[in-house]
Amino acid sequence: MHIKILGSGAGGGFPQWNCNCANCRAVRAGAPGFKPRTQSSLAVSANGRDWALLNASPDLRQQLTQSPQLAPRESDAVRASPIKAVVVTNGDVDHVTGLLTLREAQAFTIYGAGRVLGVLAQNRIFNVCAPAYVARRELPLNTPQPLAGAEVDLGLTVEAFPVPGKIALWLEDALAENYGGAEGDTLGLKIAETGTGKSFFYIPGCAKIDDDLAARIRGASLVFFDGTLWHENEMIDQGLLGKTGARMGHINMSGEDGSIAAFAKLDVARKIFVHINNSNPVLNEASIERREAQAAGWEIGEDGMEVVL
Ligand SMILES: [Zn+2]
Repeated sequence: MHIKILGSGAGGGFPQWNCNCANCRAVRAGAPGFKPRTQSSLAVSANGRDWALLNASPDLRQQLTQSPQLAPRESDAVRASPIKAVVVTNGDVDHVTGLLTLREAQAFTIYGAGRVLGVLAQNRIFNVCAPAYVARRELPLNTPQPLAGAEVDLGLTVEAFPVPGKIALWLEDALAENYGGAEGDTLGLKIAETGTGKSFFYIPGCAKIDDDLAARIRGASLVFFDGTLWHENEMIDQGLLGKTGARMGHINMSGEDGSIAAFAKLDVARKIFVHINNSNPVLNEASIERREAQAAGWEIGEDGMEVVL
């Protein structure tokens, strides 16, 4: 199974267009030890030829330009794409707006939770992925589904499961309990290769590693996990945004309640942070925080990183 990180950044990317934080200034200036990052997406393929995208970011066009394996091949028809399916894990801007890049009457399938597909249906701009070409399939929870599109079976299954999280910011209802969020607003995915049974987890947004999630990922061979924040209060402390990680639906890496501590007990063979916010000190390759994460066995995801499982 081939996996490629198309975008390892969180919403806004790195640098973020309007951000003047120390990290964004450094990466903008080309300082050593800082790599630019586009917004959150993975690509996966069993045969190296037909691919599924896991989330479709606003940077998708740039990501595809940098990924020869995702371009039409010389032997293909005059209009063609190896992308046969897109799975979305929530309705966040950084995860769905790339669908608008996939217009132009190309057949593929969009998979997502019923609530997220409902949001896409209500926003008519997503009709640029015309129903005549683009199927939309609701993912049932906790039930592996074969991934297919454009009459191609990808040889992969996807199992969607709810994780602690938050409804997309632009869908929040300030007056409703939990801002109007409900189960299915934030999904984790388990992707398995049908032929070999090999599998990995992709969980780019997660507020908490509860007992259910811990049991599910214990002993996994590979997990891509929410690396938005190092510290719960870092957005506030840096004067960027008056919100904690919990309010944004993202767990912190550090501390007793953080992801590094939680994973320490879970015997996961390979752990890679993705969806890393520009405020996170691990983006500085010379930082103490970076060394601490690596010492705990974590890799810091980068755009273009490829993993063969
Ligand atoms: Zn910044």
